[in-house]
Amino acid sequence: MDFDLQWLLIGLPLAFALGWLASRFDLRQLRRDGREGARAYFKGLTLLLNEQHDKAIDAFIETVQRDADTAELQFGLGNLFRRRGEFERAVRVHQHLLERGDLKAAERQRAQYALAQDFVKAGLFDRAESAFHALLDTPFDQEARLALLALHERARDWAAASAEARELERRGHGAFGLRIAHHACERALEAEARGDAAGADTALREALDAAPQAVRPRLLAAERMASLGRPAEALQAYDALLLPHPAAWPLAAAGYARCAVALGRQAAAREAIGRAYADDPGIDLLQALLLVQDDEAARQRLVIEHLQRRPGLVAAARVLELPCTAWGEQAAAQVRDAVAAAAQPLLRYRCAGCGFEPQHYFWQCPGCQGWDTLPPRRLEAL
Ligand SMILES: [Zn+2]
Repeated sequence: MDFDLQWLLIGLPLAFALGWLASRFDLRQLRRDGREGARAYFKGLTLLLNEQHDKAIDAFIETVQRDADTAELQFGLGNLFRRRGEFERAVRVHQHLLERGDLKAAERQRAQYALAQDFVKAGLFDRAESAFHALLDTPFDQEARLALLALHERARDWAAASAEARELERRGHGAFGLRIAHHACERALEAEARGDAAGADTALREALDAAPQAVRPRLLAAERMASLGRPAEALQAYDALLLPHPAAWPLAAAGYARCAVALGRQAAAREAIGRAYADDPGIDLLQALLLVQDDEAARQRLVIEHLQRRPGLVAAARVLELPCTAWGEQAAAQVRDAVAAAAQPLLRYRCAGCGFEPQHYFWQCPGCQGWDTLPPRRLEAL
């Protein structure tokens, strides 16, 4: 990566230099100003090749002041610095572009957008926000609004985020119903956390209105019913969610099972959860099945069979909770295999110099070429 950037850093100015020279292969333009500009430019190029970036930028800025056509060079440099993570330099280059009096409106907006992106990358979100605000109702309107939406979401300012999403939708920049529903769900959870039941209900209704078919508002509605001690309504809400969205079963299973137990409807729940488990035997559905299964022998069978369906540490850990007498030969062997497979990476050594983890002991690390850098003990434990 560094290698590529290095070549970019050299290649970009070189390409520019060739273009610059080509564009000036006109004897009428070989004026004194042009020669001085070229001198400043090659000075900048030399400084850049000598890794004196700050001085190079100064030289390029001097070139720019002499020659209005070098805006592309500055855009290229600024974006290059941003990609390299040198945000201060990127900001400097783009700010200088913005300060130029001769720039056309379209170029100014492009520079403003680049500057706003620099601020985001540098983590200066307040400055990024005002930079994006300056781009509203310009050709960068959609990009600026999308960036503002992301900034509001990052700041967890859900009301502002939804307002921005609605404006994007109103301007025909796409459908944002799902995103607005997520914002409302976040507000509902916040209201619930501070004990504001009415606020939670209102936000939840807004979420359902914004995206009636979305998974999260329906799941949240079911969970809210359950937490309010209304398991029958909660079960209805779960059914309304799971019928069109069977993939949501792992998220809903535990709540579904608890509501069924509260209503004494274990048998029906066993059947419903069992069907979902047969389609995709995951650990969440197994746990839910165990919740609605009272017969101890049947519970043990479920756990043992789960290990056969999904051999691995998660299932093995559940089998280990059972009394050894319930295991049987096959389950015991599968538990051993699962633990042995998980332990395999812990038999490695780790180089103290570079962190390389070989299976076999090396006196010279193949990673950093250091001698005696591998401690002679295996990792064994995490
Ligand atoms: Zn090493």
